[in-house]
Amino acid sequence: MLTRTRAGCSLLSSTRQCFSTRLPLSLSQSQFHSRSFSHNSSSSGPSNLSSSNSINWREMAQSDISQYLKETHDRVFENNRAWAAEQTKKDPEFFAKLAAGQSPEYLWIGCSDSRIPAEQITGLGPGEAFIHRNIANLVVNTDLNVMSVINYAVRHLKVKHIVVCGHYGCGGVKAAMTPKDLGLLNPWLRNIRDVYRLHESELDAITDEHARYDRLVELSVMEQCRNVIKTAAVQQSYAENQFPVVHGWVFGFQDGLLKDLKVDHEATLKSIQKIYNLTES
Ligand SMILES: [Zn+2]
Repeated sequence: MLTRTRAGCSLLSSTRQCFSTRLPLSLSQSQFHSRSFSHNSSSSGPSNLSSSNSINWREMAQSDISQYLKETHDRVFENNRAWAAEQTKKDPEFFAKLAAGQSPEYLWIGCSDSRIPAEQITGLGPGEAFIHRNIANLVVNTDLNVMSVINYAVRHLKVKHIVVCGHYGCGGVKAAMTPKDLGLLNPWLRNIRDVYRLHESELDAITDEHARYDRLVELSVMEQCRNVIKTAAVQQSYAENQFPVVHGWVFGFQDGLLKDLKVDHEATLKSIQKIYNLTES
């Protein structure tokens, strides 16, 4: 029996939570071992990202599953030891510097999707970006998690840029475009459905479904930027320091490039302050 809706599984397609669906391919034991991780950093490329989704777990021996779980667990620690040794080799003071404190220039608010690792696609190193991720990179006024992150990043870390980064092909946005009951996801996806309602005429005028989906991704990012700018921390810091500046970006899988939606921070701030001005106490 399928225990998840198609949309729910699609939303979580990069996680092991799709295991409950029937998988099309059964691997023999030798195939399984040929797919097992090879304990070196070069094994972490995209070719391994979805390998587990092509294995039929129900037909696999318990000992093979245990072996698989052990290897995928141990691999992380082996990679970690190799990474730590490499950093120390390049700079013997590397970890002492990290331990001294953080002063990141960027707050990154991205999607939890495993395929968009913020530091790797931007070339930023440890200590350079304060990071928050959730499904579909939403900034929700009542979400204490993201609100705490923004408050801390702005008031204490004094970040200069806040980036909301979405991505084309976002499962969360796709699920929000599906007009049906998605259980626990409903209140979260409601935020994206509200973005659709706000821009309904523009979106409905796009006849190609993929193009409409892409545009909703962009519009949602821009709405989340607006939500960041509505916060007291951002408004007050900007009034005092002229930073942080808020940016909306979208990552594309077809070429790995970031698209800058060119959110006009100053104009957006002015447009919202008639109603949302929080610079006065
Ligand atoms: Zn996503």
